Amino acid sequence: MKKIIKYMDMNKNNTTLNKIPENLLEILACPDCRSDLDYDSSLKLVCSECSLEYKVIDGIPILLPSIIGNDQVLANRSFSPEYRAILKEETQLKMDKYGQADMDLIDGPSEKKEKFLEIGCGRGRVCNNYSALKRFKIVVGLDLSIDALVLAKKISDENNLNSYFVCGDIENPPFKSNSFDLVFGGGSFEHFKNTKKGITSLRYIVEEKGEVVLTVPCISLTTLLQGIITGNTPDIFILRGLYNFLHTTILKDKYRMFGFEYSFLPKRFSQDFNENGFKTYAYGNYNVEYDLKFIPFGKKYINRILKKKIFWPMLYLKCKRLK
Ligand SMILES: [Zn+2]
Repeated sequence: MKKIIKYMDMNKNNTTLNKIPENLLEILACPDCRSDLDYDSSLKLVCSECSLEYKVIDGIPILLPSIIGNDQVLANRSFSPEYRAILKEETQLKMDKYGQADMDLIDGPSEKKEKFLEIGCGRGRVCNNYSALKRFKIVVGLDLSIDALVLAKKISDENNLNSYFVCGDIENPPFKSNSFDLVFGGGSFEHFKNTKKGITSLRYIVEEKGEVVLTVPCISLTTLLQGIITGNTPDIFILRGLYNFLHTTILKDKYRMFGFEYSFLPKRFSQDFNENGFKTYAYGNYNVEYDLKFIPFGKKYINRILKKKIFWPMLYLKCKRLK
């Protein structure tokens, strides 16, 4: 564990204090002690219990816990420069095939949902598109990276959407219990080491019968090979220790291209949820035609091979919160 300086201190010069919408404030909580938040006289958010103060930057509440895992810092460092580069360019609302594949998965849940959260929302690809469709009463995006959120909010504002964005960590969620009835994480849940804590956090913020839809890397020949190059760690006995020893102890995390990242066995991953208050009702191959940027030819053929279970790059999981 590593203590980091909060972003608010790093962003002193362009800090603007402003109010956030009432229906967002209603579901926010102190990430350290989970108590209610309110404004003080200088429009900072203050915890009613532990008195910790949290700033709001450009309408985005910064609700990071005082202690944050080194795996999370690593993930943030890997993704932020990319968003900073995009921010200089365009802020149009876009829909690509990955976003479409995500929404096809999410649109499955049987009952009507109203309160949607996207964890690790990045530029808000999914949540901003749902805002445009007016599918839910409230749409919130959570991310560790303030750079990603500034971009996501800019896209929301410039397209007259109504997405809310919160800077925080899913392991210490800055939300009250039962705040959401549908949570989606597209390639985000694998970026912290303590999977069980992540599941417990989801259980806390999702209401009874609420649903969780996730996509994560799948342990397969593809990811085992790729993991050596990009720093993915298969979350199974022996291999987990071996890959972590290679990447963390020997290579000092230098080659973790996407920060800390796990891959999971579909059945084992679903059992983790079933043992912690959820009931998995579907899992399988994340069905998308991959870009395969670094492969010059035969993409169509390779994509066909990737649909075979021993090669699945990503898997999806859908589950429902039990009592
Ligand atoms: Zn507190």
